[in-house]
Amino acid sequence: MLNPPKHLADISKINIDRTTDTSFIADIVCICGNLEFCLMHSGGILEQNGGIYPVTAEIDGIFFMILSVKCSNCGKSHLIFDRDYHGWDGFVCAHENKYRQNPRPELVLWSCVKCNSSYHKLTVCVSMEKEMILEDGIVTDKDGSVILDDSNWQEGFDWIVMEITCTKCDHETDDWLSYETM
Ligand SMILES: [Zn+2]
Ligand SMILES: [Zn+2]
Repeated sequence: MLNPPKHLADISKINIDRTTDTSFIADIVCICGNLEFCLMHSGGILEQNGGIYPVTAEIDGIFFMILSVKCSNCGKSHLIFDRDYHGWDGFVCAHENKYRQNPRPELVLWSCVKCNSSYHKLTVCVSMEKEMILEDGIVTDKDGSVILDDSNWQEGFDWIVMEITCTKCDHETDDWLSYETM
């Protein structure tokens, strides 16, 4: 069974029917058991073909892509994706990632495009092909220290896609967020 990146392990309710050797698919579930969240993002918006989507935000010349959720039951927040920490560029290239030093922007609440409600369910699909990520069996940094090996290669995932469903009006957006990490 394909494992998720570590930061999603405790909040993933795996969809066994849809998960494959290269795609980990799970509903996000709070540690309190609740599946309903407020979605918070870094503020970039794309309007396309009648839909509205969160995209990379440029704030004072710095680029951010952050997606966090806040549980509607217990109020706990969970970071789902930050391009400066997760995936190939964020995790593997972290040693040369100067962007983590930038203060994180204040996140913006997402509202349903149909009914304006803040409450949603979130499904995350993380794509990762072991043969590609662990091409040489191991990934090291310039000094030779191990960044990825058999035990954690999932951290080098190359694509993350999110689907959301409004819990008030059931409006569903399949490719709400689609982000290539390399
Ligand atoms: Zn909760
Ligand atoms: Zn709605």
